[in-house]
Amino acid sequence: MSTFSRVVVLGTGGTIAGRAASAGDNIGYTAAEVGVAQLLAGVDAPAGVTLAAEQVSQVDSKDMSFDIWRRLADRCAAWLAEPDVAGVVITHGTDTLEETAYFLQSVLAPDKPVVLTCAMRPATALAPDGPQNLRDAIVVAATAGARGVVAVCAGTVHAAADVQKVHTYRLDAFDSGDAGPLGYVEEGEVRRLREWPAVDASARQRFETMLAAPAWPRVEILVSHADARGTIVDALLLARRQGEVEAVEGLVLAATGNGTLHRSLEEAALRAQADGVAVLRATRCMQGRILPRPNEKLRDAGALTPVKARIALMLELLKSPA
Ligand code: ASP
Repeated sequence: MSTFSRVVVLGTGGTIAGRAASAGDNIGYTAAEVGVAQLLAGVDAPAGVTLAAEQVSQVDSKDMSFDIWRRLADRCAAWLAEPDVAGVVITHGTDTLEETAYFLQSVLAPDKPVVLTCAMRPATALAPDGPQNLRDAIVVAATAGARGVVAVCAGTVHAAADVQKVHTYRLDAFDSGDAGPLGYVEEGEVRRLREWPAVDASARQRFETMLAAPAWPRVEILVSHADARGTIVDALLLARRQGEVEAVEGLVLAATGNGTLHRSLEEAALRAQADGVAVLRATRCMQGRILPRPNEKLRDAGALTPVKARIALMLELLKSPA
């Protein structure tokens, strides 16, 4: 356990805070109803650790917004700067947890842990998974030497860069793909398999720019598939040329296999790129990364999934206020 003594739990909503009409109902619930202080009431702190709670938002994470992300990053930074705070835990819905985790790692890359946790069953379930996940997340946040943004679910610790929701119903709904999990939480102890996410000094600049930016750039994701067309790209381009407010500034193409695109979509994407739209290819495969081939005309996002590539591109396109 760390010499720091406080773990701060930030509530954002999700199924972990969900309520159903009956204990036997694991899917017909309303997410984001139970407050974070109430979630904590059922969880005992590890020895020597005191807990504090703050409600940042109360949403079903399918409805996550940039506004909440901005507030969340700001609150994480403020708490992490407190000398007696060992780490921060965030209770979050499972649906966009990997996006929030990747976003926070991009703008904080902290030298203390920020641990996202969640539940697949509502708080009112016969056997809710939230309390154990929350307890495990607190253990990770209080672990000496832990750092970076990670996710904890079903006893497994995942790095923000690798974590993906892979199952619609199973309690162990997350996976780290090729990289494998960062570790496990077993009976209140972390068994680490890999290094914690690296501290990145350049995150501070992204954090400042993100907080100060008057608006976040619009980046859309389009999927390449059999008989794909370029018509949506062309419609977005037309609106851009006509001076649409919040016109598209970036496109992420969810590409097949090793980053390949249907030729119609590729031709349209090249037209967009020539018009000044930032284009990035990300593979739609669940595992692996795009291995660069010579003479590619469109950049690739390596191992990033389309949703994470979108965040990377948005942060790249963010402008400081004039
Ligand atoms: N729709 C819920 C959410 O993401 C699902 C969950 O938390 O499991 O908030």
